[in-house]
Amino acid sequence: MTYFYSGYKWVENIILKKQLMNDAGITVIDAGVIGLAIAENLSGSNSNIFIIEKHPIFGQETSSRNSEVIHAGIYYTKDSLKSKLCVEGKKLLYDFCRKYDIPFNNCGKLIVATTDEEISVIEGIRQTAIRNGVNDLRVLDKNQIAELEPNIFALKALFSPSTGIVDSHSLMKQFETNTVNNGGQIVYGSEVAAIKKIREGYEIRLLDADKQDYIFTSRIVINSAGLTADKISEMVGIEDNNLKILFCKGEYFRINPPKNKLIKRLIYPVPHHNMEGIGIHITIDMGGGVKLGPDVKYLESNVYDYKLTPSKQEDFFKSARKFLPFLEYDDIAPEMAGIRPKIQKPGEPQHDFYIEEESRRGYPGFINLIGMESPGLTSSIAIAKYVSNLIKKTI
Ligand SMILES: Cc1cc2nc3c(=O)[nH]c(=O)nc-3n(C[C@H](O)[C@H](O)[C@H](O)COP(=O)(O)OP(=O)(O)OC[C@H]3O[C@@H](n4cnc5c(N)ncnc54)[C@H](O)[C@@H]3O)c2cc1C
Repeated sequence: MTYFYSGYKWVENIILKKQLMNDAGITVIDAGVIGLAIAENLSGSNSNIFIIEKHPIFGQETSSRNSEVIHAGIYYTKDSLKSKLCVEGKKLLYDFCRKYDIPFNNCGKLIVATTDEEISVIEGIRQTAIRNGVNDLRVLDKNQIAELEPNIFALKALFSPSTGIVDSHSLMKQFETNTVNNGGQIVYGSEVAAIKKIREGYEIRLLDADKQDYIFTSRIVINSAGLTADKISEMVGIEDNNLKILFCKGEYFRINPPKNKLIKRLIYPVPHHNMEGIGIHITIDMGGGVKLGPDVKYLESNVYDYKLTPSKQEDFFKSARKFLPFLEYDDIAPEMAGIRPKIQKPGEPQHDFYIEEESRRGYPGFINLIGMESPGLTSSIAIAKYVSNLIKKTI
């Protein structure tokens, strides 16, 4: 059974098939935060847009298994897409949240140094941030830190006032609503099984939950299929070892009440230099929850392994205890896990988002978004603008 969301009702696949048998103008494969943001943007100025999503509702993969942080754009390589789209996306996201009453909290974040060695790294982080256009970071001494967060330990800290958190579910819901109100159509419960280049675009084969298949054509295809975006790209014929996704798991522990109330902002340690992750940090959410994590572990194979590892409690406790002196071992418990779609191999320097219209490989109108890890949520609206510009150049 395939379900088709028209904004007013759910209808079964017989009607959907008839609609899809007509040419789609633009097909977006992904009802996660990035695909929905793209569809929302494009549906404002294009008709005949479809989102195809294998799950029965939006945001069932990485988009609902993350820290929900609106990143400032501090750490990324200068002039990278991650850096530019994060800084632009942060502003667009705050504006969007205000416009549509999406719950968010511009709470700010402290990057804390707990040793002399870490103090020496702080100025370098501030300079990287300035090169990326993030000019508002302030160095705080112990007294200034205590005024903001009296319960943490830090010798020095960098305060980022533009960092915040957002309710990502409400954000995705709003993108979905706007897309449908603009005339876009969302096809849930349908998996893209094959894509073939044809003269005027692409032929796409879908499988529904009953394994019934049907075929439609689309002039433009946007592949932002998250953890399997490399597989979608291979379906059309693009084989590139640099675009192979490696699943990289991140687990979280929560701080149990009442100690969750002792933290009001995001608290991060000084990051590792290769940026596989940014260290076990403390994030808060819109419901008052406080999480430790995520850690970083490349999985041996690309399996959807969201299992929690209670035996990691000691490591999480030790990492967090460095700056949370009030924490006792039993104050934390396993919470959840997410998987990063990394194209950066273990030990390699930070990789950028891969966002390309693939004419140069012989696939005009096929747009790949691969390796869309953090800060993908923060950047989602800026990514949508960027993709919209790629399409304008194509047609
Ligand atoms: C642990 C963790 C923490 C993070 N923290 C943050 C953060 O604090 N701030 C931030 O900005 N970013 C963060 N991110 C990154 C952010 O979550 C992602 O960049 C973003 O969610 C990616 O959205 P997406 O739509 O590309 O992918 P997804 O949410 O993975 O969506 C892809 C969709 O495509 C669908 N799909 C795949 N294949 C097919 C197919 N063949 N047919 C039909 N549908 C298909 C899937 O079902 C899925 O719904 C974090 C990520 C992780 C893993």
